[in-house]
Amino acid sequence: MKDYLVRAMTQNGAVRGLACITTRLVADACTRQSAYPTAAVALGRALTGGALMGALLKGEQRVALKFEGNGPLKKILVEADGAGHVRGYVAAPQVELEPENGKFDVAGALGRAGFLTVTKDLLLKEPYRGIVQFHTSEIAEDLAFYLTESEQTPSAVGLGVFADPRGVTAAGGFLIQSLPPAKGEVETEVIDQLVDRIRHLPPVTEFVRSGKTPEDLLNLIFTDIPYRILEKRDLIFRCSCDRERVERALISLGSEEIGLLIDQEKNTELTCEFCQKRYRFLPEDLKRIQTEIANSSPS
Ligand SMILES: [Zn+2]
Repeated sequence: MKDYLVRAMTQNGAVRGLACITTRLVADACTRQSAYPTAAVALGRALTGGALMGALLKGEQRVALKFEGNGPLKKILVEADGAGHVRGYVAAPQVELEPENGKFDVAGALGRAGFLTVTKDLLLKEPYRGIVQFHTSEIAEDLAFYLTESEQTPSAVGLGVFADPRGVTAAGGFLIQSLPPAKGEVETEVIDQLVDRIRHLPPVTEFVRSGKTPEDLLNLIFTDIPYRILEKRDLIFRCSCDRERVERALISLGSEEIGLLIDQEKNTELTCEFCQKRYRFLPEDLKRIQTEIANSSPS
């Protein structure tokens, strides 16, 4: 099954619901990183959260989620755009912890203390940035906490990823948001109904593993609540790196650093953290870059 996301709205416009399957893109990212199961589940949840947040954007707009904690994973960075492209990496992918009560110990791997930073590039002058402390370090609750506290949009998030030593075999999630009332009416009845429903949902991981679709998930959450599907979009792992960007990163090292690399008389290889693509620079490439720096410097 292809990865995709479905965006829906209740008939009365009070609640927005998104659900997605992300098995392939999560498996793709985790294979590139050779991530161990616990790290893969953590990265997979973050990627799925990113896909859901990206679906609230338009086209070229971008969102980045950075989870930085005091656990062995150190950091997870995920980026998504409004066109269904998602990429992400975990700083220490070879982390494996004993399960906690039969569940992947994501909170232990990420660390109980840390920060979630959300950066949104809405193609305005300045990007928007919001920071919250980790809430449970399980990623879904942290995102819900961020959306509710920082963006003032009451939200529920569910994320599920299953991984074993052979790889990721299931990933998906949902995001339910209560929208500001249009004419001062507060739809408390629907909200109460949903809160209760979400509390009693089967784990998302089990849901995806049993072959259910995003539509099935929304159907279950919105049982007895009239809603309509607004959009369905494909999701895919895609990295935006290219040689030009990598060269710019080299330039930012400065002429002296590049001089040291040239002195080693070896090829320099830079690896993209997101997709693991390798970019090789020969000593003559580095000399050309050094000349370019010299020509462009003001002195
Ligand atoms: Zn890349």
